[in-house]
Amino acid sequence: MPHLISIPLTYFNTPYLFQYPLLFFTFSKKELQKTKPMNPKVRVRFAPSPTGLLHIGGLRTALYNYLFARHHGGAFVLRIEDTDQARYVQEAEQDMLESLAWAGLHPDEGPYHQSSRRERYAMYAQQLVDDGYAYYAYDTVEEIEKMRERLRSPQNPNPKYDSQTRMQMRNSLTLGELELQELLEEGSEYVVRLKVPQGETVQFEDMVRGPVSFETDGLDDQVLLKADGMPTYHLANVVDDHEMEITHVIRGEEWLSSAPKHILLYKYLGWEPPVMAHLPLIMSPSGGKLSKRKAEEEGIPVNVRDYRKERYERDAVINFLALLGWSPGDDRELLTLEEMTREFTLGRVGKSGAIFDFKKLLWFNENYMRQRADAELAEELMALVRERGLPGKESLTEKEEKLSGDSEFMAGVVRLLKERVSRLPEFLEAGIFFFDAPVQFDEKAVKKGWKEDTPPRIIQYRDRISGLEGADFRADELKRILTEIVEAEGVGFGKLMMPLRVAVTGAGSGPDLFETLELLGRDEVLGRLDRALQKFA
Ligand code: GLU
Repeated sequence: MPHLISIPLTYFNTPYLFQYPLLFFTFSKKELQKTKPMNPKVRVRFAPSPTGLLHIGGLRTALYNYLFARHHGGAFVLRIEDTDQARYVQEAEQDMLESLAWAGLHPDEGPYHQSSRRERYAMYAQQLVDDGYAYYAYDTVEEIEKMRERLRSPQNPNPKYDSQTRMQMRNSLTLGELELQELLEEGSEYVVRLKVPQGETVQFEDMVRGPVSFETDGLDDQVLLKADGMPTYHLANVVDDHEMEITHVIRGEEWLSSAPKHILLYKYLGWEPPVMAHLPLIMSPSGGKLSKRKAEEEGIPVNVRDYRKERYERDAVINFLALLGWSPGDDRELLTLEEMTREFTLGRVGKSGAIFDFKKLLWFNENYMRQRADAELAEELMALVRERGLPGKESLTEKEEKLSGDSEFMAGVVRLLKERVSRLPEFLEAGIFFFDAPVQFDEKAVKKGWKEDTPPRIIQYRDRISGLEGADFRADELKRILTEIVEAEGVGFGKLMMPLRVAVTGAGSGPDLFETLELLGRDEVLGRLDRALQKFA
């Protein structure tokens, strides 16, 4: 294949994610070898345009391509469609590479860049003109606007550069030899347009949608090559899919309307089109397409970078996305990448919009997070605190600094809260009281817990536990003492638990109280009880 530039694949195996070293995984070779190659000729591509941060829907497209390639033992190619210079965003490509690496979707080839292949597209554009399937168009922006005005009507609010009009326009179909020669000599700007035939039907079989057909009368004379010599998406996409020997085009449904233009191009270039599969739209839980604005309103992060930054579990995101349009054919939900790879077929991708159920994503996240070792999560939490401090605190006190750097303590926080949170940063939100005495107290809990007879009981408890030395300050011992007191006083357990909890944590509910006391340690607990006695008594 000529003119392809590639970055060595080792790029993807380099743990560039120094900030999140623990989130960086690679799938071992062994794992991959377990999937039998069924059709090693399969070649698919993920072809993002670097116009912004990688969208979560883009990651789903990449994932489906990846699963399909792995399932067949074929190749997953990465191609950057960077010919639209006006919409080019500098950081987009880097973000995309990082996001794909984070997700573990390592391409077998690429990234290839369309911007470095422009002569290829120009060559094919010329071939199409020479063969009578395309033409040069010299119309200025003003001329095109005039044409639109002329044709605009209630039935046709957005007139296209169509076959009828083209006869009135300045292009190589309407202008005489001499005029064309002049324009050429003057160096006038032109674009190359596809000559869309009239009255034809373009048909193809979509692996997801089944038979699809479009009338050519509804299609515009698509610009193929722009005045700056750059191809449009349509031309570059078709040329590359052909030259890169892509067998299956798997992409979002928003590209379905481009497919007939592509099919025409394949035909005119004399090429076999790849099999097409258009993935269902991603819908917001409240209905409608999950647009950026909608997602924002509903508190759903849409950029993969946000999931990385917020330390979502990679495996949870992948598992969730895999089921966003595909199903293994039964009601299994938690699937390993190996299972997904083994079972992935386009036949089980649904046609109707897939609802982005964010609560479900949190459920997956919880599940995957709980499977991980406390120590590992603690390490990540420590990195998170180093990066962004503690929630709601401008800077860390010495004590907070010390505790949040203590891996044993942090593993304790993880152990106590693991069943109560869904995302890593929530350990810090739900466990903020572990780092320093609460400043705010749940008013309701205080009112309910602290009655007139509470302080003497708390004082009793305080005095008893103050005698516990070192390793004796343990949850079971702390519970035993409390039990003794409530029994002697003839009151319910809650009578003492509630005020104790609110005094120590500031909240009316939370993780196991005695374990919490043990983790905080004697001096800290005594200090907090004294302060509460002063405050609430
Ligand atoms: N560059 C297009 C995009 O940004 C690719 C569409 C396709 O896969 O054909 O999604």
